[in-house]
Amino acid sequence: MKAPAKSSGSSSPAVSTPAPSAAPDPGGKPGEHGGLDLFSLLAEHEHEQVSVYYDPSTGYRGIIAIHSTVLGPALGGTRFWNYQGDRAALIDALRLARGMTYKAAVAGLNLGGGKSVIIGDNRSPRREALFRAHGRHVESLKGRYITAEDVGTSTSDMEYIKAETNHVTGLIGRSGDPSPVTAYGVYRGVKACARYRYGSDSLAGKSVALQGCGSVGYHLAKLLFAEGAVITCTDIDPQRVKRVVEECGAKAVAPDAIYDVRATIFAPCALGAVINDDTLQRLQVEIVAGAANNQLAEDRHGDELERRGITYAPDYVINGGGLINVNAELHGWAPERARSKAGEIYDTLLRVFEIAREEGVPTYRAADRLAEQRIAAIARVRRNYV
Ligand code: NAD
Repeated sequence: MKAPAKSSGSSSPAVSTPAPSAAPDPGGKPGEHGGLDLFSLLAEHEHEQVSVYYDPSTGYRGIIAIHSTVLGPALGGTRFWNYQGDRAALIDALRLARGMTYKAAVAGLNLGGGKSVIIGDNRSPRREALFRAHGRHVESLKGRYITAEDVGTSTSDMEYIKAETNHVTGLIGRSGDPSPVTAYGVYRGVKACARYRYGSDSLAGKSVALQGCGSVGYHLAKLLFAEGAVITCTDIDPQRVKRVVEECGAKAVAPDAIYDVRATIFAPCALGAVINDDTLQRLQVEIVAGAANNQLAEDRHGDELERRGITYAPDYVINGGGLINVNAELHGWAPERARSKAGEIYDTLLRVFEIAREEGVPTYRAADRLAEQRIAAIARVRRNYV
């Protein structure tokens, strides 16, 4: 699922712009209003609200995008990045927030989708005042948005945010490393793919080409190995490869050779955009199911997987365990409850495959439809005042 990206954005001191959920066409041409076509962008990305905040003492420039709060407060991390300009930052926030809505919806969580961006060099050593400014920005939304770590931020940055607001998760000593829960969800997702494809979800004797032996890849390898799968793995870090070879009896190949491995399953657990024009020519697998975010370089590569008869587990469905872990922290769930919820990815994927078959669409589109169905159904039951 990708939101279209075009038009303009800008920052100004403390502007908060809630929009009605079914925004009418705001009219006007892009750039007509002094280059800031904000409401067209909100309508185009179907967003509820964008908040822009500037703090002169620190130079903090932050944008919080709230895509949807139909299911619950909008949750999504804070990205700290040196964007080319305000427009690029705003579009990134809008696109990422929308992705979070869909991810939370298919994970069955009572969360909406949001995201925030801080514009600047994320190597900055002066973090406390900057992240406290961000925390105040988050607090100003009174719980409509909950933040967490993302690219360019760390758990210690979250502690600074916490000094100004309670609407932050992923704190030191709380839910901890999400990768075991994510890996368990991916493992259950791989089994669902096998069930859909072969009528049995056993992975005994099935071959898996594993790209990335990092936090998720390692835990996934252990689960696959325990069930009798035969693993070929790669990583750019030889130490990480060694661990999977030694503990899971895996065979190692060079990083680029992973796309040429003949296997039942390709499990991308490293980078995005690994399903692209080049790799599609090379993959000799029946299933693509892994943890990496944004696996399809473009939507058309999802269509091409379908055309080639390869079963694709949409990335944001199968890797939802990370978000489930965050939700567990928010609600004080026991670890077993988070794991059990991640296990439900099995049934969710089977439902995605069913929608794909019934409606004759690729699985990545079927996942979007499942998310939209849930959001629409909950919006209907919550339409009245209680
Ligand atoms: P990680 O950094 O621990 O592991 C990624 C591994 O990929 C590293 O070992 C790295 O050396 C390796 N790598 C990088 N470039 C590579 C290449 N060209 N070829 C082979 N290996 C390469 O990250 P992670 O937490 O294991 O996450 C893996 C993926 O899953 C990421 O895309 C992440 O966004 C996604 N994801 C993770 C979680 C989570 O809970 N950690 C949740 C959802 C999604």
